[in-house]
Amino acid sequence: QAKESGRNAFVLFADWMNDSAEQQFRLLADLRRAIGSEQLFLHYQPKIRVATQKVAGAEALIRWRHPEQGLIPPDRFIRLAERSGAINEIGRWALDQACQQLRHWHDAGHDGWTMSVNLSPVQFSSPHLLQDVREVIERYAIAPRNLVLEITESTVMRDTDTSLRLLQSFSALGVGISIDDFGTGYSSLLYLKRLPATEIKIDHAFVRDLEHSAEDVVIVSAIVALGHALDMDIVAEGVETAAQRAYLERLGCDYLQGFLLGRPVDAARFMQLHDLPRPRVELASGPPRNPQ
Ligand code: C2E
Ligand code: MG
Ligand code: MG
Ligand code: MG
Repeated sequence: QAKESGRNAFVLFADWMNDSAEQQFRLLADLRRAIGSEQLFLHYQPKIRVATQKVAGAEALIRWRHPEQGLIPPDRFIRLAERSGAINEIGRWALDQACQQLRHWHDAGHDGWTMSVNLSPVQFSSPHLLQDVREVIERYAIAPRNLVLEITESTVMRDTDTSLRLLQSFSALGVGISIDDFGTGYSSLLYLKRLPATEIKIDHAFVRDLEHSAEDVVIVSAIVALGHALDMDIVAEGVETAAQRAYLERLGCDYLQGFLLGRPVDAARFMQLHDLPRPRVELASGPPRNPQ
């Protein structure tokens, strides 16, 4: 299926717009049944710290394996879930699942790893979100700073006063706040100044042509300067080539994410690929376990 293999994250309109009303109706019914089943699961993409060139944590990305249609990307069902309200239940499940996974990683010795979880604007306006986050942190005994909540600019701009208050509560709790897809929304620098965010994620769109676009170089370095001045970490997403990586590192990004550094994979595969410092049993004389 072309949609599955040839999918490009840079499409200008979302996949769900291709679905007819009837298709969407059926998909939603299927989605409701999928909640709580094995059909919904998370993939994890590594986030690499430039200073150490090591895994600093992961971003949880939801996946849906439909019994007939196969793997359906989030761009095709998240909007559907948002418009129907199903996103609240899905989002709560994803938060729990991701934090449970983080607990396993911490138990396995990676106690500095962070977990980034995407929040929908619908979840963000739910009065239960703060309590859900408090509970999940407690349930898995996670240090708040190891959980990062990813929201987009437009989420914050929807209802700025309520959003700011909620963000301040998260900030007081100590969890990380990341502004996802930065640069693609209504970036009001005035609000950015007031946001208690800990991190900015530079959207793919500015990374893609970095090697060939003097404008994108200027934009990325401006975002880096702005973010650092406001005491935020800078993450670049969608890093696919070594040249992009070199530019982003030179321009001062703190963290990198992208296919070049690691694709989103299931938890078992994530450990196979990224649990590298742990010496294998037969390599008794291997390097000591890295405590990071
Ligand atoms: P996002 O949070 O901006 O996630 C980044 C997307 O870029 C992911 O797509 C990821 O697989 C993809 N990506 C990562 N590295 C590269 C790269 O080097 N090149 C390219 N072309 N793409 C890359 P994915 O997994 O399809 O997710 C799409 C969006 O769906 C996410 O964008 C996020 O907004 C949303 N999403 C995913 N999981 C969740 C979730 O649990 N809850 C909510 N509310 N939204 C989610
Ligand atoms: Mg994200
Ligand atoms: Mg993003
Ligand atoms: Mg996105």
